[in-house]
Amino acid sequence: MNSIKKYLAYNGSVRVMAIDATEIVQEIRDLHNLSNLATAALGRVMIVSSMIASTLKSYEDRLTIQIKGDGPLGNIVVCANSALELKGYITNPEVELPLNNEGKLDVSKGIGLGTLTLIKDIGLKAPYVGTCELLTGEIGDDFAYYFNVSEQTPSVVSVGVLIGKDGNVQKAGGYIIQPLPDCEDKVIDKLESINIKLPAMTELMSEGRTIDDIVVNATGDEKIETLYSGEVRVKCDCSLERIQNTVVALGKEEALKVLEENGKLELTCNFCNSKYNFTKKDIEKLFNK
Ligand code: ZN
Repeated sequence: MNSIKKYLAYNGSVRVMAIDATEIVQEIRDLHNLSNLATAALGRVMIVSSMIASTLKSYEDRLTIQIKGDGPLGNIVVCANSALELKGYITNPEVELPLNNEGKLDVSKGIGLGTLTLIKDIGLKAPYVGTCELLTGEIGDDFAYYFNVSEQTPSVVSVGVLIGKDGNVQKAGGYIIQPLPDCEDKVIDKLESINIKLPAMTELMSEGRTIDDIVVNATGDEKIETLYSGEVRVKCDCSLERIQNTVVALGKEEALKVLEENGKLELTCNFCNSKYNFTKKDIEKLFNK
């Protein structure tokens, strides 16, 4: 079960999102045949995206996160909607690197330097776009930095993916703690000092702690109030219609050229690997519309 929860702490002055994402990270690993490093990188972005998506308000609201780094993993794209359906991909899913000095997967080196962009489509004329530089490429730090500089919301972001010797995901999850505007300074100071000392998310999960228990620990508030509890799923919303738009963008001449050279025009959805084939007749029909 990929349970995601939202809470209020300190009498409603702090909001918290937390998730056990072990199953969706395993699912995305299997779907794209990801290396351990790519599982950790894409998995971390999916975990944070889930939590941000849980704050979307209307049914039609959508979220896209793009991580563009110059490291060997390439780019990461994750999309999510308010129903908490997620899809994601990474440019180079096979890349593996030596472990870092702490003996951990070197996500930072895999992603490299670059930018984090968050696009929120909440039904307005133009979507909201926020962007910042990547701070470390470790994802958790980068989102904390993003919230601070782009949304002026100092936040604690903890995210982790633990992979077993067999390559399967053992634990994956995270939490985000955000003081709301009326939060007292002493509460913010307390949150910071607690979270500097707290072990990694996956370590806490491995001890058998529940999400509730982890949030109580991470906030230092025994009286947290649960606002929401739900499920997150991996689900692609690609369709023939959308893929047809890609063919139209390619242009009739180019589409027919590819068909002739390869004997087929086959487009694969980056997010779910579904294949869409177009015959000469399909292409003619598409451009005669
Ligand atoms: Zn798809």
